[in-house]
Amino acid sequence: MEPRTIRKYPDKLLMKQCKPIEEITEKEIELFQDMLFTMKHFAGIGLAAPQIGIAKKMIVAEVDNRIIKLANPQIVGMRRADSMAEGCLSVPDVVIDIERPNEVIVQGLDDKGNIVEIRMEGLLARVVQHEIDHLNGRLIIDYMNMAEKLKYQLIK
Ligand code: ZN
Repeated sequence: MEPRTIRKYPDKLLMKQCKPIEEITEKEIELFQDMLFTMKHFAGIGLAAPQIGIAKKMIVAEVDNRIIKLANPQIVGMRRADSMAEGCLSVPDVVIDIERPNEVIVQGLDDKGNIVEIRMEGLLARVVQHEIDHLNGRLIIDYMNMAEKLKYQLIK
């Protein structure tokens, strides 16, 4: 298996709203596998379909051997918040502190086409929220304050 190419900022596709998945077919199952393979190849812990050039609502993540494969993921519950440094394969060399809920309940379609609700916390909750941001065209850059944008020379 070959890893897919990772789209990098400022690729326009990364800023797009992704389309929902209507049905899990062989194609989606294969795509989940491709995404996991590519994620691991580049030493990531999460990946969203737009990062490999597909504007569809699909994400994968793996933290502490817990693998998440979800289509149309949606946050239906959240609790507490903390701040942690985040990076992104599509925004190389940028690390910024982002505040997010520490515990979330995420609803979506699993790779068998079942509607599932998964409770997660800590790093996994953070990664999945980061990947859901990708599906809405949101990048870590969008969380930067003015000082951080200047530091990374992102002010035009
Ligand atoms: Zn990312």
